[in-house]
Amino acid sequence: MVSFFVLNHEFMKLKIAIQKSGRLNEDSIKLLKECGIELLTGVNKLRTEASNFPLEVLFLRDDDIPQYVADKVADLGIVGENIVLEKNKAVTQVEKLGFGKCRLSVAIPKGLYYESVASLENKKIATSYPFLVQQFLDKNNVNAEIHEISGSVEIAPGIGLADAICDLVSSGSTLLMNGLKETEVILKSEAVLISTQDLEEEKTRLLNQLLFRIQSVKRAKRYKYILLNAPNEKLNAICSLLPGMKSPTVMPLMDEGWSSVHSVIHEDDFWNIIEQLEKEGAQGILVSAIEKMIN
Ligand code: ATP
Ligand code: MG
Repeated sequence: MVSFFVLNHEFMKLKIAIQKSGRLNEDSIKLLKECGIELLTGVNKLRTEASNFPLEVLFLRDDDIPQYVADKVADLGIVGENIVLEKNKAVTQVEKLGFGKCRLSVAIPKGLYYESVASLENKKIATSYPFLVQQFLDKNNVNAEIHEISGSVEIAPGIGLADAICDLVSSGSTLLMNGLKETEVILKSEAVLISTQDLEEEKTRLLNQLLFRIQSVKRAKRYKYILLNAPNEKLNAICSLLPGMKSPTVMPLMDEGWSSVHSVIHEDDFWNIIEQLEKEGAQGILVSAIEKMIN
């Protein structure tokens, strides 16, 4: 009994479902890679495993991922928040992943008058997101007819199928090309990591390991490593601009009166700080990406 348990334990793997092909496929694989997880490339297009982490990967259509995770066929999934909320399955949202950003928006033909959500009263809305659209209409006390279609939603008004659409938008160029204007944003979405509810203990431990890596990768993307030369009399002013993770590293240069300063800066403050550093007399400023950043 005990030996069986140990064996089982040893071979326990996390199963993660990711999109088979489409907008999230590449970024999902890239994220795993950035977490140091190498996937075996084989002939099997539906599943693979990692060579250096107890992880099995299932490749599925994005729409099916919440169901598979809810049914515990997969322990984890990477899928757009838009799909998670639309499918409304019993899964836990674990972490936002920072890619696949888009919004779910209502759009109407450009020439049409639009004042507020009330302008959608008694209109026909074509969408692949009937649940979220109904929720939005209910919240705004609007009655409208939802026409569910699975693709090419943006052509619906042009062919007389609907008065309005509700679809995913990123740049807005598809809407523009089809003579539509965006009138309401129902949801802002990005790819998220989901997990089954009540994940068993050993798998939770593996999930936490994976999550630790994901968070280190995400944190690293928000920061830059910066290296510069500073005249010693300006060191205090320059270092106060660069608090870093704890405090900047300062090392003397061969040239007397000069030091090298190393630190990290947040991408939001980046340009602002660079300008101030130059004003304070910093020279030879080098900036590079950080691969991993541990707390
Ligand atoms: P599948 O064959 O897996 O069902 P799909 O055609 O339904 O694929 P994709 O178009 O590949 O799905 O989009 C997958 C996800 O990418 C979307 O659910 C959304 O979360 C995200 N996404 C990001 N930007 C956009 C965009 N401009 N249009 C559509 N989806 C986007
Ligand atoms: Mg899909």
